[in-house]
Parts: sequence; C-alpha cells; structure tokens
Amino acid sequence: PDFTAFRDTVVFDLINQEKARQTHGLELIASENYVSEQVMAAQGSVLTNKYAEGLPGKRYYGGCEIVDQVEQLAIDRVKELFGVSWANVQPHSGAQANAAVMLACLQPGDKILGFDLSHGGHLTHGSPVNFSGKLYQPSFYGVEKETGLIDFQKVKETARRERPKLIICGASAYSRDWDYAALREAADEVGALLLADISHPSGLIAKGLLNNPFQHCHIVTTTTHKTLRGPRGGLIMLGQDFENPFGLKTPKGEIRTMSSLLDGAVFPGTQGGPLEHVIAAKAVAFGEALGEGYTAYVKQVAANAQALAKAFVGLGYDIISGGTDNHLMLIDLRSKGLTGKLAENTLVKADITINKNMVPFDDKSPFVTSGIRIGSAAITTRGLGESDMARIVELIDESLMNHDNETRLTQVRQQVNTWLQDYPLFA
Ligand code: PLP
Repeated sequence: PDFTAFRDTVVFDLINQEKARQTHGLELIASENYVSEQVMAAQGSVLTNKYAEGLPGKRYYGGCEIVDQVEQLAIDRVKELFGVSWANVQPHSGAQANAAVMLACLQPGDKILGFDLSHGGHLTHGSPVNFSGKLYQPSFYGVEKETGLIDFQKVKETARRERPKLIICGASAYSRDWDYAALREAADEVGALLLADISHPSGLIAKGLLNNPFQHCHIVTTTTHKTLRGPRGGLIMLGQDFENPFGLKTPKGEIRTMSSLLDGAVFPGTQGGPLEHVIAAKAVAFGEALGEGYTAYVKQVAANAQALAKAFVGLGYDIISGGTDNHLMLIDLRSKGLTGKLAENTLVKADITINKNMVPFDDKSPFVTSGIRIGSAAITTRGLGESDMARIVELIDESLMNHDNETRLTQVRQQVNTWLQDYPLFA
C-alpha cells in the first residue's frame, strides 16, 4: 500500500496564496523579514525527521552523527557572529529562550523587573497573561512621558526599591539604544542577574551598529527571525560563561556553570527534542550574517529606518522619542485622530502590512491602541533603499487620510503592487 497517497492541494494552495500576498505587498511589520531560499530549503529538509534530545556529542538517540555536525556548526557560527563564548541554539522561539533563562535563574515567586509591555516591552518580560508574570512577581520600568526615552537612573531607583532577582532589558517596540552599563550597575547593586533580550535589533548588534550587551549583561536571548533574517526560532548566549550564583553543584561537588544550567533549562527543562531542521536553517542564516553582504544589509536597514522616521515627521506624524536608532519606530496616531486598529485595517486594504501597537501612556485597549509600529528589516531585504522611504510614507499617509474611501485605497494598492513588481522576491 502507498502510505503517503494523500496529496494536499488545500494547504499548498494556501501557501501559494500567502506567497502572492508577500510578493504583492509592502511588508513593514517590524518583527518580520524574508529569509533566503537556502534558509527555507534547510528548514524544509529531511532533518525534520530526526530526534536528537541532548546536545551535540551527548544525545539520547542514535543516528545523530550528521545533525550533531549541523548543530555544532550553528553554535560555532553564532559564537563567531556575536563574539560570544557560549550559545544554545535549540530554543524553539524567543519566548522559549526567555522561559529557559527564567527557569535556570529563578524560583517561582521570585521578583523580576522588566520593561512595561505597554511602553514597548515583551509579554515574556513579566506580563500577567504570560508565564513570566504568573510564575514570578513582576515589576516594571517604562519611558518618560515627555521624551519617550527610558531614564536609566530611574530604572536603578526602581531596582533598589523592588530588589528583583532578574532584571530584563530589551523590547519589541523601543526605537532607541540601551545603556547596558547602567543596567548592570543596577543589577550589581541589588544582586540581580541581568538579561538582555535583543530579539529585535540582534542583527544590528551583531555588526556593531548598536551598543554591545555582551560586555555587561549576564545572559542574552534573541529570536532568529527578525533583523537576524533566519528561520523562526530562539537562541541563548553568554558573552562569558560564569559559575552559577545559586551554589548549585554537579554530582562531583563542583559549582555548575551558568551555561550548564541554561542547557538543562532548555532541555529537559522546557523543551523536548530540538528542531534540527530549524537549527540547520539557523546555521545557514548565521553563515549569511557572517558575510559582508549582511553587514551592508543591516547598515541599510538602519539607514532606511531613519529615512522612514524623517519622512513621517515631515508629514506631521508623532514618533515616540522623535526618531530611531534601530530598525523600527512607534507612531502615536492620536494627533491624526486615528487609532492603531483603524490604521492597520486601512493599510491592509492597500497591501501595506504594519501592526497596531500600544504607545506609552495609551488610553486605548490593546485591541484598539493609539499607535502603529513600523520596521525596515523586510523592505530592506526586498531591495528598497533610502530614496524609496519617502514614497512609502506618502502611500501610508494617502491611505490613512482616505481610510473611508475604498476607491482611493484600491488605487494605492495598485500603485504598491505595480511598484513591487520591480523587486521580485522568490525565485
Ligand atoms: N522577545 C522580544 C523582545 C520579542 O519582540 C519577541 C517577539 O516578538 C519575543 C521575545 C518572542 O519571540 P517568539 O515570538 O519567537 O516567541
């Protein structure tokens, strides 16, 4: 009998529709990117068939000789890329990476201090709807109302008051750089560990365009699919390995290293078998990121973001903090009399994808929001440059100002579709 006779036209038809959507539209969601054909090929490979619980050379399954080499390559390449001494490439996602770090460093009920979700932080940094806010006791720091910037001296004061075991920095919607040195001082003062979640700007950090977190933060996590332009996934890194501060020992009585605690917190702590096909795709993406082409790419990502911000400001849009140091920006639409929800729904009709986003001190719910978040990672991969950014902002503005005019929105969509024909995406 043919055990695999079923031919799925339904799913592959949907995949083709999604391919067309990605091809026709302007992708401005800050957390998205387009991976290369070789990243997709690695992820769609036979490695999906393999179980490999454990780490390279120390597996609980036979037949891991090849995937050991794949995973070791991913580890070696990412260590070189970020200049770090240790990495675990197995977390299935950014949330999984953060879960593993918290499992390794905290006991249930311990205090954590993170960046407020409504100011640009991430769910996994202590939100009450997430494991991080349910298992641990969160407190938050935010941005200043007048400047839209984090005041790092105030974070120190909050740390002194709250005395967390773990301080988390990093964000999903903060367009400025981080003062990791000040945060480390705050952590040292209260005996906390410092975690940097660099999910968003990790590609820019890898190429030295932003402050280096590894010199100051005990542990660093990232997703692999945003500016890093790899497959969806997560990653944990240590600039330098160190003895765990909790006095945990090996059966031989030696103090366990942080890296060994983190390895154990990924597997068996929070995950089962690693996704070796995804790890292979990570290895490919890290290989790409080690090259000069990627350096030019992230520089263009930053330049495009700045050009976008300038064009928005030129049309009277209110960007939180007034601009950007990285690949994204958060726009408060209240001065334009629009909500984030209306903007997202309007722009999608023009084949422009962005996401609605809370802005600091928002008076609307997370389902409505007062803002939108915009990023340059995907459009830069697509080949658009600084001179194209003003046109994008004009198309967005025309759509938003005509949100109730279906004819105008259709005209914008046609302009977007025609324009992007000059930038083919998939082979
Ligand atoms: N951390 C930050 C700062 C993020 O922005 C995100 C994703 O948006 C994550 C963690 C979670 O990543 P994932 O969606 O892969 O779980």
